[in-house]
Amino acid sequence: MNWGGAKVIAEVVVDIKNKAVNKVFDYTVPEELAHLIQPGVRVLVPFGPRTIMGFVISLKEQTELQNLRPIKELIDVVPVLNDELRELGMSLSEETGSTMIQCFEAMIPNAMRAKYKKKLLCLSDTLSPNLASLFQNSRVIDYEQIPANLLKEVKQAIEHKQVELIYEVKDQLGKKMIKYIALVDRNLDLSSFNRAAKQKQVLEYLIAQPNPVLKSQLMDELQVTHAIMKTLVDKSVIKEIEVEAYRDPYADVVHQQSKALKLNQEQQVAVTTVAHACEENACDIFLLHGITGSGKTEVYLQMIENVLVKGQQAIMLVPEIALTPQIAGRFKSRFQNKVAVLHSALSMGEKYDEWRKILKQEVQIVVGARSAIFAPFKDIGIIIIDEEHEATYKQEEAPRYHAIEVAKQRAITHRCPVVLGSATPSLESFARAQKGVYRLLTLSKRAVSTAKLPTVKLIDMRQHSTVSDQMILSDVLQEAIAKRLERQEQVVLLLNRRGYSNFMQCRECGEVVNCPNCDVSLTYHKPNQKLKCHYCGFESFILRRCPSCQSEELRFFGLGTQKVEEYLQDQFRGARIMRMDVDTTSKKGSHQELIAAFERKEADILIGTQMVGKGLDFPDVTLVGVLAADLMLHLSDFKAAERTFQLLTQVAGRAGRHELEGEVLIQTYSPEHYVMKCVVEQNYHAFYVEEMKMRRRFGYPPYYYLASVMISSEEYNDLIMACDKVNQYLRNQLGHSCIIVGPTMPYVGRINQRFRMYFMIKYKQEPRLRAILSQLLMYFQEGSVSLSLDFFPNQFN
Ligand SMILES: [Zn+2]
Ligand SMILES: [Zn+2]
Repeated sequence: MNWGGAKVIAEVVVDIKNKAVNKVFDYTVPEELAHLIQPGVRVLVPFGPRTIMGFVISLKEQTELQNLRPIKELIDVVPVLNDELRELGMSLSEETGSTMIQCFEAMIPNAMRAKYKKKLLCLSDTLSPNLASLFQNSRVIDYEQIPANLLKEVKQAIEHKQVELIYEVKDQLGKKMIKYIALVDRNLDLSSFNRAAKQKQVLEYLIAQPNPVLKSQLMDELQVTHAIMKTLVDKSVIKEIEVEAYRDPYADVVHQQSKALKLNQEQQVAVTTVAHACEENACDIFLLHGITGSGKTEVYLQMIENVLVKGQQAIMLVPEIALTPQIAGRFKSRFQNKVAVLHSALSMGEKYDEWRKILKQEVQIVVGARSAIFAPFKDIGIIIIDEEHEATYKQEEAPRYHAIEVAKQRAITHRCPVVLGSATPSLESFARAQKGVYRLLTLSKRAVSTAKLPTVKLIDMRQHSTVSDQMILSDVLQEAIAKRLERQEQVVLLLNRRGYSNFMQCRECGEVVNCPNCDVSLTYHKPNQKLKCHYCGFESFILRRCPSCQSEELRFFGLGTQKVEEYLQDQFRGARIMRMDVDTTSKKGSHQELIAAFERKEADILIGTQMVGKGLDFPDVTLVGVLAADLMLHLSDFKAAERTFQLLTQVAGRAGRHELEGEVLIQTYSPEHYVMKCVVEQNYHAFYVEEMKMRRRFGYPPYYYLASVMISSEEYNDLIMACDKVNQYLRNQLGHSCIIVGPTMPYVGRINQRFRMYFMIKYKQEPRLRAILSQLLMYFQEGSVSLSLDFFPNQFN
């Protein structure tokens, strides 16, 4: 950048997450950095007495401000945020009421926020003499070793892809290096090695190769030992070259190349319609409503194929990829190394490596969870969001963004379509499709043409005696399982509650053992004999006496997956049972192993939480049982019915996806509820119509938009006083068209020692809403009280 000697001023967003400093600060750029700095790089700047990180937003020549302080150091040489993402970050900050710095940080991998060391990696053998001298001894050097007068040359070399700036991330895997072997002098005289046959063989091999050779490969092929290699290195006839390798989470997995499957007519229409939109650069939003097993993934694959042919890129979001390794595998099989995968089960270093492939445009597709929506692609041709109704697309901490909303914004910039797919679309999305805001595509048949939808039956648990404290399996379900075991078919059971028992109660005085930090009961985990809080992570050993009356009559109540596993083991001797919940899948790769083992039929029954409902495809599952279908139904949450319908439909969809016929048995205490009836009929439309009536009656989305203000404090009195002030402010400021509900105590009134209250704001149109709520953060966030805004609230617990 040539500034003709004029002073360069950088506009910087600094790393302070306080709403009051959510603005851009000006800094001067010292002369030695002026030629290196670019918008989108991170810098170190003085702020008060401290030195902090910041993002450079733009450069300019003039400012009205006086006494600017200079930037101290550049962290990046290549921008980590391109023009599009910087603008997106700014508007996301407005949309979500978060600070700009929170938005920018959400767009880059965690590794770049962690402790790291900057290094320079040599990629080419034809560097200028100055640079070549840096890499005399190693292919990687510390960035600090570069003399200041060479920085400009280094930057040019980075641009020409001769060297690369990398961050050495300290995670459990460490940095992964690959060793190559090269000859020191190609005109070597081999005669002196006549009496060392093995050594000579190595040298002849190397002479025959134009390039350095992978050390492990050479040793394998020639069957030589480390000692022989070392002798040659010591004699200075060969040298070892170390190169950093990407940590590839899928390195050990062989993905057999898959070919496009033949589509049925509905699938073909979906692919062609979206291809037309791509052709016309239309940023249309499609809702792909396809029943479970209707072959949505194949449709996504072919939509993406069409985009790749044009040389464009694709973003594919899946709810939580740790839950859907099968999908990631299908993308890898079809597109091989054109795919980067980003998900929470990867180590920090692996994620960083995958992200770099995207930044350098070395891949064309990213498959990932929510944050992959910020993939720094430059020419996006399509954005697909699978299971669009899932709550995981909304981030529940600042910045509280919704990936679908971000997708729509990026689609406008890139002039490309967005495809939202689901068997059970969110009410909001389906209502938009009905109104023609979204374009509806329907898949009404199962992709395996002989496969039928399973039969679904309700089991009324009210008719079963409750004398024996808890009825786990009704006779009907018990017999159905036995039948499958006999026929060597597989069973999936859903109980959406982990642990062994969900509360411990005193039989003398009725006291329930609660978490000391939260207003919820502690759950008993049998394998490690502990009581755990699922909200704050608190753990304690099992109590022997009631904390209130000292009685020893403490008993466990309620049902969790661990207890059901034990019960099944007892009922079906010899059956092989597998459990899938947060506790059995927390280890890296363990979830994938569980699924693979069940696929290989190493177990007969899979019992698990909602995880078992997610996108899994097991050909031999012919029975799905739901143990307590009402668990979520009666929560005081406007989405309770919708979530229950979605979960039950999804899990029912695991049965009979292939040749064998499927059956679904649902145990419930509310068989008359419209959710249960619609699940039995597998009728999304009927559910939609009923649920829309409820939403209209109680004024919920899609009839109103929602925003929430959550207020929390360790001091109950401070919380109440803050609520009063906020209440007054909201009612004074917001127009009459807004409905303000609250202050209300959420389902869990205290989490992690903080008391909580919230306001819900229902609105149809209030252009000043975001500004008014942003002001709240500035005015009422004092002392122990903290406020958070949510413009896409999903839950109020
Ligand atoms: Zn707790
Ligand atoms: Zn007691």
